[in-house]
Order: sequence, then structure tokens, then C-alpha cells
Amino acid sequence: MRAPVVIIGTGQAGFQAAASLRAEGYDDPVVMIGEEPHHPYQRPPLSKAFMTGKQDAQNIFLRPSAFYQDHRIDLLAGEKAVEIDRANRRVRLASGSNVAYQTLVLATGARVRTLPIRGAELDGVCYLRTVDDAIDIKTRLEDARNVVVIGGGFIGLELASSARSLGKSVTVVELQPRLMARMVAPLLSEFYRKVHSGQAVEIVLGAAPVEIRGQDGRAREVRLSDGTLRPADVVAVGIGVLPNFELARDAGLAVSNGIAVDAYLRTGDENIYAIGDCAEHPNVFAAGRVRLESVQNAVDQGRSVAAAIEGRPHRYESVPWFWTDQFDVRLQMVGLSMGHDRIVTRGDPQSRKFSVFYFRKGRLIAIDSINRPADHMIGRKLLASGVALTPDQASDESLDLKRLPPASPSM
Ligand code: ADP
Repeated sequence: MRAPVVIIGTGQAGFQAAASLRAEGYDDPVVMIGEEPHHPYQRPPLSKAFMTGKQDAQNIFLRPSAFYQDHRIDLLAGEKAVEIDRANRRVRLASGSNVAYQTLVLATGARVRTLPIRGAELDGVCYLRTVDDAIDIKTRLEDARNVVVIGGGFIGLELASSARSLGKSVTVVELQPRLMARMVAPLLSEFYRKVHSGQAVEIVLGAAPVEIRGQDGRAREVRLSDGTLRPADVVAVGIGVLPNFELARDAGLAVSNGIAVDAYLRTGDENIYAIGDCAEHPNVFAAGRVRLESVQNAVDQGRSVAAAIEGRPHRYESVPWFWTDQFDVRLQMVGLSMGHDRIVTRGDPQSRKFSVFYFRKGRLIAIDSINRPADHMIGRKLLASGVALTPDQASDESLDLKRLPPASPSM
């Protein structure tokens, strides 16, 4: 029997690689190794529906446990891979055993950045990445009155929205002068500042926590760089993530802002691939190399790697998309807006239903839609097909975007 395809990581990307291999009839053994003692589950609900109690833990699993037996996926949950022995094609586990591979897929994901300040070790300072983290925060929120969220990115703002919906007094502290600065245009940052302020979430911009003060080992208040203090029973930190590339690096594979792969998601070792949050890959929509943190990227790279392993490699060229839900506002993003030199809006921001179109050198590169799912779905098609859209057309609501002429072949 041939050695298995071994997948390190049981998140969305690792799960998809295994599921796609089986869905397409791959017959050799498949092994998944995951540090977390759980079957693969969805992360997006953790900060939202799970946190507010609308979705319970049983409903976040990607498949029931029988799926793995039925599909002959050998799931080693609660096992940590500690070394890749490329010469002998095997992975060493923390428990001491070795797993041989024919092909290795690194879907090691990312881990939270931690806060390097005094008091960050106090009880009540929380990070959100795993379901166990989410259960811990949810439990703590039950008894909390004051919640300070550090970081005004997606995770921080989703947590702020959930905590506020649960009736907590919430402050968000963001280092940058605007919210979600990494991902969206200033117009949208301002829109979100108003959404949160309108729900009585206090937003403090251009400030960072400098110390967390406690009592009896428990966090009690946060001192900010502007000298002010905020009471806190829970300090929820969402200041971004770092890719887990150490296994690859220690095995001599190239890493930068992630594990470096080519357009086929292959590392410098022809038997090793990397996918999902940990993979720095060439992306046509970025006009360069990027690492993306999204469900779409994890799923589509999982599918691509399965196809490559089965001998049907194709370049990874999926249109990137993302979403975030905060209060009653859904933001859907398609494309990658970095490097844009012009934006136009379609619809009226006052109506809380509008889209922002991003252009670079006259070409549409991304669309962010607020409560306008139709624009988002059309945007996916426009970007995938490379249809030329001018800024004037984008802002003209009388023009039906579904009826644009197809892209010319030269594009
Ligand atoms: P995520 O998607 O995990 O929320 P982002 O990168 O989108 O990550 O958001 C993290 C946010 O945290 C960014 O807006 C960043 O400016 C902010 N941030 C980083 N460090 C600090 C800090 N020390 N204090 C407050 N905010 C911070």
C-alpha cells in the first residue's frame, strides 16, 4: 500500500483538502493531524452567532464524526506535529510516533498575536482563535459588565458587536486613526465608527493599551496611551494573527510572510504543499504574492491541492472574497483593494445599503458591499471574467451591472 497523503492542520483548508480528495475518488490513505482535540469546525461563527448564543457548539462542525470513518480519513485530533523529516518523508509527532507520507499538505493556519504589555498575563485577558477560546470568552461574558476590546479589525469589531448585543458596556481601542484600516477604504471605516457608536460602543482611535491593571490576579482596568483608564472585566484582544510556518522553516523550506508556495501551491519540495492562512502564494488579484486569511481562500486552496495531488494541477486563480457581520450590517468584500488609486460609491451610505468600487490604473480590482449582496455576487463574476467597468459606470445606478458586455479576449 502507498504511504498516505498527510495533512497537517484540521482547520477549514486541511478539512477541504481531505474532503475533496475523497469526493474526487482518490483511493490511497489520507491522514489528518491536528493539535486541537476536535473534529474540524467552522471558525466564522465563533465571534458572532456562537458568541451571542444563536448557534451552539454542536452546529459548528463541518461534518459529523462518522464522515471521517465513512471516507477513510484517519483523523489524529489532539496530536501535534513537531518535525518534518524530508529525507525520509515522515512527520514526527509530539507523542513520539512518526507518520510516513507520500505527499504532505501543510495547512497549519495562524495563531493570535499577543499583547506585549504589563498585565497581559492577568486572568480575563482573552484571545479568540479556537472553539475552546470562544467557549472561555462566552463564559466570562456571562458575568462581565465592562468589556474592553483591543484592536478594531474584523475580530475585534465582531466581538464588540456580540458583547454589546449581550448588553455589555463595550470599548474598542484601535491603534490606527480608523477602523479596519488594513482592509477597507476610509469611507467604510467612518461608516463603521458610526454603526458602533450608534449602538453605544465607545470607539477610541489612535490609542493603544499600555498596561492592564488587576486585583487578585484578575484584570480590572486598562490604561491607554492617552493616559485614560477603562474598567474591564474582560479584555478581548484581536490584534491580528501570525502564520504558523515554523515546521516548514525548520525543515529548510522557504518562508517569508508565510510558507512560500508557487501558483500550484507547491513548496520548494515537490512532495510538500501549503494551503490556507499559512500559505504565501502568487495571486493574480494582488498582482503579487500574498497570504490571505479567509474561508474562501482555505476552501479553494484545499480543492486546488486535492486536484494537484490527483495529477490534475491547475494554477490557483480564485477570486478572493471575505465577509464580516457586525450588528445588522453585513459587509461582503470581493477582490483585493490594496494599491487602489480611485474609489467610487454606488448607492447612498445614509441608506446603509451601498457598495464601494476600488480601481487601480482604471481597472476594477475590488468591491466592498454593505447590505447589498447582489452587488457582491455580480462583483465576483465581473472580477473572475475581467469585464471592463469604468468608475462612471460603477456609480451609475441606472446601469444594470448584470448586462455589461463580456470582456474582450485581449484583457
Ligand atoms: P483580525 O482580522 O484578526 O481582526 P486585523 O489585522 O484585521 O486582524 O485587525 C487587527 C487590528 O488591531 C488592526 O486594526 C490593528 O491596527 C490593531 N492593533 C494592532 N496592535 C494594536 C494595539 N497594540 N492596540 C490597539 N490596536 C492594535
